[in-house]
Amino acid sequence: MTVNSDWTYAPAPEQVDPGIAERHRLFIDGRFISSRGRRTFETANPATEAVLSECDEANAADVDAAVAAARAAFRKWSRTRPQERAKHLYRIARRIQERSRELAVLETMDGGKPIRESRDVDLPLVAQHFFHNAGWCDKLKYAFPGATDPKPIGVCAQVIPWNFPLLMLAWKIAPALACGNTVVLKPAETTPLTALRFAEICEECELPKGVVNIVTGAGETGRLLVEHPDVDKIAFTGSTEVGKRIAASAAGTGKRLTLELGGKSPNIVFADASIDQAIEGIVQGIWFNQGHVCCAGSRLLVQESVLSEVITKLERRLSTLRVGDPLDKNTDVGAINSGGQLETIRDYLERGRAEGATMHEPNGAALPEKGHWCRPCFLSGVQPSHVVAREEIFGPVLAVMSFRTPEEAISRANDTRFGLAAGVWTDKGSKIFEIASRLQAGVVWLNTYNRFDATSPFGGVKESGFGREGGLHGLRGYLSL
Ligand code: NAD
Ligand code: MN
Repeated sequence: MTVNSDWTYAPAPEQVDPGIAERHRLFIDGRFISSRGRRTFETANPATEAVLSECDEANAADVDAAVAAARAAFRKWSRTRPQERAKHLYRIARRIQERSRELAVLETMDGGKPIRESRDVDLPLVAQHFFHNAGWCDKLKYAFPGATDPKPIGVCAQVIPWNFPLLMLAWKIAPALACGNTVVLKPAETTPLTALRFAEICEECELPKGVVNIVTGAGETGRLLVEHPDVDKIAFTGSTEVGKRIAASAAGTGKRLTLELGGKSPNIVFADASIDQAIEGIVQGIWFNQGHVCCAGSRLLVQESVLSEVITKLERRLSTLRVGDPLDKNTDVGAINSGGQLETIRDYLERGRAEGATMHEPNGAALPEKGHWCRPCFLSGVQPSHVVAREEIFGPVLAVMSFRTPEEAISRANDTRFGLAAGVWTDKGSKIFEIASRLQAGVVWLNTYNRFDATSPFGGVKESGFGREGGLHGLRGYLSL
């Protein structure tokens, strides 16, 4: 929920009308064109279930055209002077800032996240990633001192999820372009609109045609894209299941691959922590963006002596969260991204109860009649073997467990097939570094949670994937060094 520095540039939004066209086409070779297959799908507002627009579903011929456009553009873009590439990325970053109110509203309407988050977290970070990577364009030789001549890889196939549509686009497109690659990106089928608006920004900023191509569609379009033989690199963010399939199909092809997959991240609270501060961190950790966060602190591990205090305070705090209309700037918890995801979450809640956990749903907010909603809640009395302690729920549901000793905290925290993130809450500095070094996680937050910055690398270990996005590390995946 927090951004380290103040990247908010646009004035606070009153409700802007993002002016959504009834029909959206594919963006290939610098033009908006219809799919050769003429198939379309609808994207809706999950808070109202109103259809926002009809989008083209890219088929094999469309994906082929997009990859060919990216290939042709690569010949020039890879040889474009670094300062010239930087100029385009800076222009894009500034244009994102200028249009950020409109983009924030569109993001919230298409995906269901609270406007306060789109406006104060997503959009500032999106701009920050373009600024940050723009700055690297002409410094790559200095960034990697051992490498005499870092070279771009080629055509990148990028597939992103629906939880941070524009931010995941920025994480992928900004470093790829900075290094001289060209891209074909597929947004998720429930949230395609901001990526297409980004394509407009590329046009406005006179980015050479074919450097960025956007193809919309569902899993089949994504599969066609990542399996295309003329792709040199795949960058995927999404479920572990799909990530494994992609890794299998890429094996032996020579394609470079980075995967950012699911998580079941532990948030560990020691008895010596500032409990009130920890409560805020727990809230940020799991109820930010309805829990649709790959690094969500979805397993809370609390030292036994403060367990009842934490549960009581958590209930109190949870009851104050405002659930409802994502476009209302006072809303804390918005709509669940899709009906399908809501069903998944409900199934997990059922299983949690059936396995013997106690459900806490202190937030009695009246929910809108239409739309997909789940009140923020948590399960106590969860055992490490329970399904709700092992699988990613990807919703506003926290599993609470306890531990006695630091050793037990570490072994419980690491008792998962995932390894994306972890949080540690304690006032003892010596304990912090000892524990952080033994947690199997790509990111460890200390006395904070869900804090992001374009200069910090992000990514997982174990089944949470491999490769890093952000900062200097994020460039590696887009260079031959
Ligand atoms: P998903 O992995 O199915 O979808 C992510 C993206 O991959 C989408 O753009 C989708 O169209 C595309 N895709 C689907 N099948 C593909 C294939 N075979 N080849 C290439 N691309 C393909 O995720 P989902 O179904 O939207 O969500 C399911 C679960 O995934 C969630 O419950 C959550 O656990 C997890 N998830 C994780 C993240 C994350 O940030 N790590 C994001 C979204 C979802
Ligand atoms: Mn939508």
